[in-house]
This record gives sequence, structure tokens and C-alpha cells, in this order.
Amino acid sequence: MAYQLRYCTKCLFPETKPDLFFDESGVCSACKAAELKFAKIDWKQREKDFRTIIDQFKLRDDQIGYDCLIPVSGGKDSTYQAYFIKEVYGMNPLCVCFETTRETELGRRNLSNISKMGIDVIHFHKNYPAYRSMVIEGFKRVGDEMWPNHSGIFTLPILVAIKFNIKLIIWGENPQQEYGGPWESIENHTLTRKWLEEFGGLLGNRIQDMIGVDGLTVKELTPYFYPTEEELTRAGLVSIFLGHYFFWDARKHLEIIEKHGFSVKEDGPVEGTYNNYENLDEEMHGLHDYLKFVKYGFGRATDHACIDIRNHRITREEGLKLVKKFDGKYPKLAVKAFIEYSGLSKEEIDSVINSFTNPVLFKTKADGTFMRNKKGDLIRNFPIR
Ligand SMILES: [Zn+2]
Repeated sequence: MAYQLRYCTKCLFPETKPDLFFDESGVCSACKAAELKFAKIDWKQREKDFRTIIDQFKLRDDQIGYDCLIPVSGGKDSTYQAYFIKEVYGMNPLCVCFETTRETELGRRNLSNISKMGIDVIHFHKNYPAYRSMVIEGFKRVGDEMWPNHSGIFTLPILVAIKFNIKLIIWGENPQQEYGGPWESIENHTLTRKWLEEFGGLLGNRIQDMIGVDGLTVKELTPYFYPTEEELTRAGLVSIFLGHYFFWDARKHLEIIEKHGFSVKEDGPVEGTYNNYENLDEEMHGLHDYLKFVKYGFGRATDHACIDIRNHRITREEGLKLVKKFDGKYPKLAVKAFIEYSGLSKEEIDSVINSFTNPVLFKTKADGTFMRNKKGDLIRNFPIR
């Protein structure tokens, strides 16, 4: 019998999405947050609040140093942050990139474009074998090959800020504001250790838990250890989300940064979704998204359709069509790249994916294995509505 998955009545988020809540009329917390964005939040006031913060940290023109630090990748959000902070607010930021697992050519080009915009960028090339061991372990242990990346992107910028005596770190969107979360996390404007542990995609696995994996030592894991509370207090660091102070609209941002040298994928959409400007910098992103799909029954196309619905660019019906067409396809390109990267065979990779696949959400055969269509895609045991 088909499983009846509950969906938000306004967007296409299902109840299986972690940290998502529904109100009595069946509207999800991400849509409620979007209503606030459009109708209730006083953006003029938030902009003033932002100016007040900036004024506290901006160095005089005759002082040596950076006004703030911006964590970046080869993606659109960080390019926009860098552009906005430098060009609109006249700050001198230091950008720090914790490289992705398998950088794409496009990601590399977009990253080097940031320095061409007149900004210093530190591109951190990590210890490859140590990181790779954690990629494989994260994949097997928590069903996420991006685990060490989540850990690194949130930790390294903090470590660098402390070393360079930079007091202000400016992150991009507030993910809970855009994708939903507990109420206090939507209103939250700072990134703290608690936020990282709860929402940073670490899935309950700590860096301490990686010690000993393939003989990894604490020393080799240095860039992944978040500073202690004491170190953070001593450094006087303030970590804020730009998306708390300014109305976040990725498509509008994209139009701006394309005029400043940012490139999108020209030969069709990114694997696993329908647009050509998200997740451009990582070759294996499709695997990460697919693991989410097998666990919760929704993939990246749902995320993107929901954002487009909330921003009134498409209707719920149009979004539904996109989700049916693009979500949940077996990520051939990402798996091929992951085979090359990890040395695991396709059978080993599929066996791990199967171990994280929810048997309530997907059809199984009499022997308990998952049914697949001719293309190798899982068959949903629930209607998308
Ligand atoms: Zn919703």
C-alpha cells in the first residue's frame, strides 16, 4: 500500500525534511519564514542594524588589516557576498576558501574571479589523504560523503579569522530562513558553535569521532577542530548571516554577479535539479543530494522548486512537474566521479546507498531488495502531491 507522505500546502516540502514544522493549516516553517521575508520584516531597519555592525569593525584607511572575513567557494552565494561587501559597503574583506572535494572547472574559474574583483583570497588546499579518508568514512557512517566538507567550511574560516585578528565573519544566507527550521533558528542572525553542531550538516558525527579512521591523528585533523569557547571569547569574534539583514534572492544576486565575471553552467542543468547556477563548484554534489533523496524522499529539485514557489516565480503545480521530472534520478555522473575518487566499486557504493534508503518510502521486492526502473532509479512508494 502506498505511503501517504504529508506535504506543505504551499510549497513541496515533505514532512520527512529534518527540522521542518507545519502549522495547523498545513503550511511549513520555511513558507512561514518566507511570509515574514515578504511582509513583516522591516528590511530598512535591518539594513541600519547591519550598518551599525559594519561601522564597529571597519578599520580606518590608514590601518593595516582586513575589515572582515568572508568564507567562499566557487559558488554564486559567496561571489555575491564578496561583491556586496566590497562594492556596496566599501569594506576590505579577506576571503577564505576551504576547497570542495572535487572542484569543477567552473568552480575554479569562479573562485579565481573573486580575486579579480579586487579581493585577497586564501585558497586552502587540504591534506588530501586525510580528507579522503573522512569522505569515505562519512559516506559509510552517516550517508554523506560531504561530511568533512561541512566540517571544514565552517571551521577553517574561524581559525583563519583568529590568526589574522579579524573580528567579523560574514556568512551568506541563513539556511533556516530559506529552507525552514525551528523558529528560534529562523530568527537567529549569528553562527555559533551550537548552530554548527545543530544545523551545520554534521549529522551528529563529531571530528573527535574521526580520530583513528585509517590511523588519522588529532594533528592531521587540525583544520577541522572548531575553536574552544574560551578562544572564541578571547578573539571577540562576531559571526553573522548576511541573509538576516538583507532580503535574500539568489536569482537577483545571480543577475548582478554575472556582470562581475561569474559564470553559470552553459550546457544544461546541474545533475539532480533543473537550474544551472546552484552547486556548480562540486563534481559529486549529485551523490550528496541523492543520499538525501533516499533518506527522506525528496532531492535538490524539490529545494529549488520550493524556493522558486516561495519567491512567486513558479506555481506549486509547475514546481510539482519539475520535481517529478528531476528529483530522485540515480546520479550517474556523481557516482562515476566518486568511484574514481574513493576507489570504491559501484557495487560497494550502491550497497552503502541502499543501507540508507528508507524502506517505507521506496518499493521493495519479496526478497527485501529495492525495486528499480530500467534506468536504475528507485520507485517511490508514495505519491508526490
Ligand atoms: Zn512550505
